[in-house]
Amino acid sequence: MEKLTTVGSVRFKVREARAQGHTIGFVPTMGALHEGHLSLIRQAKADGGTVVVSVFVNPTQFNDPKDLEKYPRDLARDAALCEEAGADLLFAPEASEVYPEGYAAKVLVEGPLTRLLEGYFRPGHFDGVTTVVAKLFNMVQPDRAYFGEKDWQQLQVVKKMVRDLDMPVTVVPGPTVREPDGLAMSSRNVRLSEEGRKKAKVVPYLLDTAQDLLDSASREMLTDQGPVLRQWLMTLLESNAPDAKADYIAVVDPDTLFDVDEITDRALVTVAVHIDGVRLIDNRIIVRR
Ligand code: AMP
Repeated sequence: MEKLTTVGSVRFKVREARAQGHTIGFVPTMGALHEGHLSLIRQAKADGGTVVVSVFVNPTQFNDPKDLEKYPRDLARDAALCEEAGADLLFAPEASEVYPEGYAAKVLVEGPLTRLLEGYFRPGHFDGVTTVVAKLFNMVQPDRAYFGEKDWQQLQVVKKMVRDLDMPVTVVPGPTVREPDGLAMSSRNVRLSEEGRKKAKVVPYLLDTAQDLLDSASREMLTDQGPVLRQWLMTLLESNAPDAKADYIAVVDPDTLFDVDEITDRALVTVAVHIDGVRLIDNRIIVRR
């Protein structure tokens, strides 16, 4: 695996790989790699061709400067993990390479998809995401780009950007990888205290319970399962983790992210909860049976 830091060098290496007949799979990350990232790299590897992984803590997608400052960084460890998982090229640019002095462009997806949920609680976050992902796509020019379902809304926003701007890349989703107790892997989990780590189990518990709640709501022939479920889950959070603070617990259409009332087919339960000073997000599809 080769480590690259400049746009010129990544372009050169990608051109070389293409000249050898390889397609390009790309996994963008912010580093502090865990099994969730590694599963995307392995998925890219299994699809064949050359696999490029980027590690770049993108300052423009952090609406909270403290969150950016506290974000875990360990490039040597990340490089070893990338290589083990099968990456061919690791692209880890400095911020000045991505946003040189005088940088002024933005790529935006407008509308409810970026205004709702994460967009509401983290203003400007998705503008930073779409801008950096568009730039990384221009730098790497991948055939396929892999994004985790853990960040469901981000996945939908990136798909919309690619569709609306006719970007020649296929967005490939990867399933959420979880700890043995169900907590979704996240680079922010290392910031949880021992106590907070135990409390965090409430998040996968809520998501698992959501399916059971939908089953009983359906048996009771309730039609507005969305709002009912949301209320039940809020109560469950309050009783199981009284000092946790939910930014949102929502039952939404998986594509549009609009709240749903009646669940006729499937819905996405998505949550953002502050536990022990750490903001955790997670989601799960539930189905009407
Ligand atoms: P990040 O480094 O947090 O920006 O994440 C980089 C990519 O890894 C994104 O596409 C995330 O959705 C994905 N990812 C993060 N955590 C997980 C997880 N637990 N399972 C699967 N994919 C994940």
